[in-house]
Parts: sequence; structure tokens; C-alpha cells
Amino acid sequence: MRWRGDRQSSNVEDRSGSSGRPVGKIATGGGIGVFLIAIIVFFISGGDLNTVTDTLGGGITPATYETENVSSKEYTDQKEFAAVVFAHLEDYWDGEFAERNETYQNPKLVLFTDSVNSACGQASSQVGPFYCPADQNVYLDLSFADELTNKYGATGDYAMAYVIAHEVGHHVQNELGISKQLDKIRQRVSETEYNKYSVRLELQADYLAGCFSKYLAGQTYQGQPILEEGDIDEAITAANAIGDDTLQKEYQGYVVPDSFTHGTSQQRINWFKRGYKYGDLEHGDTFNEKNLDLASAA
Ligand SMILES: [Zn+2]
Repeated sequence: MRWRGDRQSSNVEDRSGSSGRPVGKIATGGGIGVFLIAIIVFFISGGDLNTVTDTLGGGITPATYETENVSSKEYTDQKEFAAVVFAHLEDYWDGEFAERNETYQNPKLVLFTDSVNSACGQASSQVGPFYCPADQNVYLDLSFADELTNKYGATGDYAMAYVIAHEVGHHVQNELGISKQLDKIRQRVSETEYNKYSVRLELQADYLAGCFSKYLAGQTYQGQPILEEGDIDEAITAANAIGDDTLQKEYQGYVVPDSFTHGTSQQRINWFKRGYKYGDLEHGDTFNEKNLDLASAA
């Protein structure tokens, strides 16, 4: 992605507390799911992490972090990249809502290291990037970029752009009132039943990330296209790597479809591609049963 020198969002708050930061190095693997950790955090903090919507599925082995400072240059680069992606997301969603004669409230991007306090409770980096509807912030530990590369094999800057776009997709769902409807459903159905709704919510966030990518593919910076060769493939590789089935196979050796909260790798790829093809809200109804397993970009 072409981004150096481009406009950075002013809605970025850096709570990482330093110009450098610890880089995540996987020292040991536990086998406890991220989802379990999220639940523990929920009970400990008394917060409402249940309302958090994140990028990753369950069953992910948490990393144990060893502290090693990355150069401030690398940190600054990652931060600026995220701020530029966030600025493009503001432009895109502002425009989309304006076209529908609706107002759009920009979310904020909060950068943190290790753990963070949100209106949804305290969360560790191990839950991965997440969006908290209660304070309308996207929370991101920039070391997730290293994790994407080293742990999930999703290389390239656009993998991270996809992750940020997915989280902002959750904000869009919040703005559209979709998240609120799902909270009501959550109160009256079993966990297994709710997982099915969670999958639809997550796939829709992938779809919205695809819509944003289509928009970005049509934009230029200093006379050059913003998206570079391979960018879309980088997003697809990331979507594939963080599908529930792929993560469960990798980290627990078997797959439990009832426990899926984010969708299979194929579903995530399909919905991202579909968003990239249509780039509108109309084709993004993941809640319609017959749409769920659409063939790629159908
Ligand atoms: Zn998500």
C-alpha cells in the first residue's frame, strides 16, 4: 500500500506509553483459547467484554511476551501506517453515510501495549485487536502486525489494513444499529445459538473491509494508485489464517463448528471478496440464511 506522507487521522490516541514498544515474541504456547481469556478478563474486571467484537476466532494459543524494544523508527512507521489507514476509513465511511443522508460519527483508534482499559472492561493484547461499542474505540496493540506475520503467516502491510478495516466495520455495524439488535438476541438465546449470530456479525465486518478495499483501489496518492500489486491477496491470506476452522485445527487439532464465532476461513475469504466486488451495503446481508455460504464473490 502506498501510504508514506499521506494524511493521518487525528482520531488516534497512543496509550502505548513510549516511542518504542515491546515486540511480541512467542515463548510458550498454552492452548487456552482467546475466547476463554476474554471471559476471564470479563469476570475479573466486571466489565462487559461480552459486547466486544474482535478480529480473531476462539481457540487461539495465547502468546507469552518477552520484552524487546523495537526501534522507535519501526514503531513510528507502524503507527503512521495505522493512522493513514484510519484516515482513509474516515473518508470512505463519511462518504458512504453522507450518500445515504445519514451522519457518521468517526471512531477513535487507541494504540496500546500489553493491556488496556476500555469501557468494555480491561483487555489483554492476547484477545487481539477489538472494537468496544460502549466507547466507540478500536483498540490495537501494534505488535499484532508481528503476530500476523510470524504466527499466522500473513505478511505484507495490507494484512494489517484489513484487520483495522474489519474493526472499523464493527463500528459501522454499531452506527447502523446492527450491534444493538444482536445484543437483544444475545439475552434470549443459548450460547451455541448466539455463536451463529456472532459468525454473521463477523463475516459482515469482513464484507465491509472488502467494500473499503474496493474504494481504496479507486484512490490515488501523488498520482499513483494507493493499492499496490498483491495488497488484496495479503488481506485474503490474513482472512484465511484467522478463520475459526483453521485456528482450531492449528491450535487444538480438531474443529468444533458449534463454537465458531467468526466463520470458517472460506467464509471469511468469500465475504471479503464479495465486499471487494460490490462495495455497497446492499450486498452485505450475512444474516440472510441463503447468503451465508455463498460461493466466492457470487
Ligand atoms: Zn470482528
